Amino acid sequence: MDCIFCQIVAGKVPSEILYQDEELIAFRDINPIAPTHLVIIPREHIPSLADLSEAQSPLTGHMVNIANQLAKREGIAEGGYRLVINCGEEGGQAVPHLHMHLLGGRKLSDKLG
Ligand code: AMP
Ligand code: ZN
Repeated sequence: MDCIFCQIVAGKVPSEILYQDEELIAFRDINPIAPTHLVIIPREHIPSLADLSEAQSPLTGHMVNIANQLAKREGIAEGGYRLVINCGEEGGQAVPHLHMHLLGGRKLSDKLG
């Protein structure tokens, strides 16, 4: 098991976990690019967005819902925030375990990519 996020799920690599349930966990990004930078991941090792089936739509819906809740808890809901899922090499995905970034706490770039 050489996936860093699977190791975080298993508790073998320490992280600041802010939320967890049966399906997913959320923790602070180790290299934040904004005052709030959280990562939301499924416990299951799904390599990328491109590997999701229609049947897994509830999972991504749940990820968005928890991100919204965490944005409120982090105090960035009113100011605004951004959810990002990088997919594949050209999409900028470095860790091959599906994850959603929650970014906020400052004015984010107007450019997307
Ligand atoms: P991406 O480029 O979309 O694959 O994002 C991967 C993110 O995971 C980056 O923002 C990294 O800083 C973050 N990351 C990598 N390793 C860890 C870790 N051990 N704990 C928390 N965040 C991590
Ligand atoms: Zn994994």
